[in-house]
Amino acid sequence: MQIYKAPYIYSDGAFLENHALVEDRGVIQDILPISKLKPTDSTVIECEDLILLPGTINTHNHSFQSLVRGFSDDRSFSEWRDQGIYKFSKLLDQNGIYTGALFAFYEMILNGVTTVCDFFYIHDGGNQNARAVIQAAHDVGIRLVLARCLYDWKGAPSQYQESVSQAKKNCLSLIDEVGQNSMCRVYPAPHSLHGASQAMIEAGMEIAREKNSYLHMHIAEAKYEVEQVKKKYGKTPLKFLNHIGACSDRLVGVHCVWIDDEEVELMAEKQVKLSYNPASNMYLGDGVTPILKLLKRNVIVGLGTDGACSNNRTSVFDEMRTCSLLQKLTHLDGAVCPAETSFKMGTENGGKILGIPTGVLKPGNYCDFVGIRVSDISLLPFKTENLVKNIVYAMSPRAIDTVVVQGREVVKNGYHVSLSPREVYEKVQNVTRGWK
Ligand SMILES: [Zn+2]
Repeated sequence: MQIYKAPYIYSDGAFLENHALVEDRGVIQDILPISKLKPTDSTVIECEDLILLPGTINTHNHSFQSLVRGFSDDRSFSEWRDQGIYKFSKLLDQNGIYTGALFAFYEMILNGVTTVCDFFYIHDGGNQNARAVIQAAHDVGIRLVLARCLYDWKGAPSQYQESVSQAKKNCLSLIDEVGQNSMCRVYPAPHSLHGASQAMIEAGMEIAREKNSYLHMHIAEAKYEVEQVKKKYGKTPLKFLNHIGACSDRLVGVHCVWIDDEEVELMAEKQVKLSYNPASNMYLGDGVTPILKLLKRNVIVGLGTDGACSNNRTSVFDEMRTCSLLQKLTHLDGAVCPAETSFKMGTENGGKILGIPTGVLKPGNYCDFVGIRVSDISLLPFKTENLVKNIVYAMSPRAIDTVVVQGREVVKNGYHVSLSPREVYEKVQNVTRGWK
């Protein structure tokens, strides 16, 4: 049992002053005024000068893409993909995949991400590469949801492709191998309507039903996909997915940029959740997801950074800022999508989307938090009434001092407790040496 004493703890929409967070075996037991603490043998950790916030949740990422950052910027989508992701992912062996994931998760945890969903698709026909990603998350100390991709589009590099039966068998066996693990879960993830055939999507649906799990899928990211899907299936993407029975509270749609009003209704009715990736959508010139309409209909919207070669940052705090700014610009109204809405998306809603009790500091949830410095210059003038606004719009990543995942301190004084930046630098440089 550990007790964290702090001048401010964000819980239930308010900053509680001079409170203590009581943790046992990775789970929050209580949050109470410091004055009510009893003399106890438990370890008391003084978080002087810190504000404790729920850890942020990155609902969508492709970890290996961190290695491709900076190699394929400022191009059209197909050039960006072919000259960046496709070209360099062919050079990755298991060590390269491990290094990419270690690098991505390391940067994320320094940015305050405590749980990440990694949508992973370089399988080489088996699960050995996915295991390397799981190992990297373990070594960094971040909680991982591995969205194991199911991919059978013949136009992609052969490393991504599997037959339907092979993908299903591999995905099921990885789910069984990982089992009930509080730091790692595996969900099936048919890539998209262009990356997965109908049979592959149906295989993913079967796995999700059998294992009672979520189903992640890229949906209607770029405008061209809608035309392509209409031509192939005679329906728009979400309507087609509903037609084959995929729309339910298990489905997490990633992006959903090009959806019409009927599809907004469909998501609301079927309780489909959204992983919203505003910076990536802007970066690739995709468009603006109608999140205000979705929020109005109570669709659960969480935030994702997407891969680090289409953002190119890996901070959910940064996505909160981008999310609010983009909606204000789109609607020509500075009053829409306030900081509190985006903050909730990057924390509480992320937990709901991944089905993990985290994202809110309250008893029963995992003890996942970020400690930011009260005195950081980017949070001034310091007033609790404005604090969420300053965190979303003004905070520098420099303010992040401490990150705790499931009761374990992973970042302290702004540095990872066991991995040095130099070690990560050398690993990344070794893998990408000679890349052009
Ligand atoms: Zn993606």
